[in-house]
Amino acid sequence: MSTTDPDCLFCKIVAGEIPATVVASDERTVTFMDINPATRGHALVVPRTHARDLLEIDPEDLAAVARAGQRLAKVSKATLRADGINLINSCGAEAWQTVFHFHLHVIPRYADDPLQLPWVPSAGDQEQIQATGAELKEHYA
Ligand code: 5GP
Ligand code: ZN
Repeated sequence: MSTTDPDCLFCKIVAGEIPATVVASDERTVTFMDINPATRGHALVVPRTHARDLLEIDPEDLAAVARAGQRLAKVSKATLRADGINLINSCGAEAWQTVFHFHLHVIPRYADDPLQLPWVPSAGDQEQIQATGAELKEHYA
């Protein structure tokens, strides 16, 4: 039995209460087209059970979403002739999340599409990289 939030847009899509272009579904997940596609074929994979974000989602649901995302990536490559794929998840408003039901963006990429990285990669401070890595390592349970 999946849990739903009556105020959640994606729960309503999962329940079929709001229309969406659903391309696939299974016991744990639903995959539907994004209404504001970044590229042709941009779709979202969501768990049927409501979870706000990456920190809340049940790991089994997360695994099912990852599997469904990989499946869609393969279908998009073959069917839409995508040259590559970006998987994107935003966790928290500061990380650009706008809909608070976990979703994985599956974004087909084309050699001539206009999308760009949101940051300009540049060399980091090696000491800080190592210190931060050590701090994280220490706090693994
Ligand atoms: P986020 O900003 O949280 O990472 O992604 C939310 C995504 O949901 C956006 O890409 C947005 O276009 C999509 N979206 C928002 N409302 C709807 C809707 O009603 N239907 C569909 N199919 N997608 C939606
Ligand atoms: Zn929801």
